[in-house]
Amino acid sequence: MILVYPGSFDPITNGHLDIITRAACICDKLIVAVGNNENKKPAFTVEERIDLIKASVGNREDIKVTGFTGLLADFAKREGARAVIKGLRAMSDFEYEFQMALLNKTLEPDLETLFMMTSVHYSYLSSSAVKEIARNGGNIDGLVPECIKDRIVEKLTCR
Ligand code: ADP
Repeated sequence: MILVYPGSFDPITNGHLDIITRAACICDKLIVAVGNNENKKPAFTVEERIDLIKASVGNREDIKVTGFTGLLADFAKREGARAVIKGLRAMSDFEYEFQMALLNKTLEPDLETLFMMTSVHYSYLSSSAVKEIARNGGNIDGLVPECIKDRIVEKLTCR
């Protein structure tokens, strides 16, 4: 079974990586799909975000990392995915995700949306928090994968 894990990943955090690792265990192939939502004014380009995810995940045949444009439902169908998987951190994530899941179900009735609960130690973690901390010279140890930490700090502090 193929699952799609979509998001902005601007940049990937340990919360995302936790979901990626756990989701990969319950499918044959996981497609991490990086959306290009210009409304979110991303700090990293789609290519940079893909590179950071690939560096964090390592070389795994069961995980593909790619960008996508257009509707997620269309992308998932093209890729032959059975379901979309999303992470949930708090009740505040629920309303938006509930709406998206129902919309995608309307667009593509065969495509399911699955939710995976965050691990307790990442429930407070978001890409925007990481950016805010890094931009202001704070320590992002433990918040993002160690191997990409310096690249994130460099980009956000323009060192
Ligand atoms: P963000 O809200 O951090 O900008 P994204 O749009 O990149 O997140 O999120 C992609 C997916 O990852 C969403 O399903 C989101 O709920 C999930 N996610 C983000 N951070 C975490 C976390 N700390 N734990 C679990 N899931 C997360």
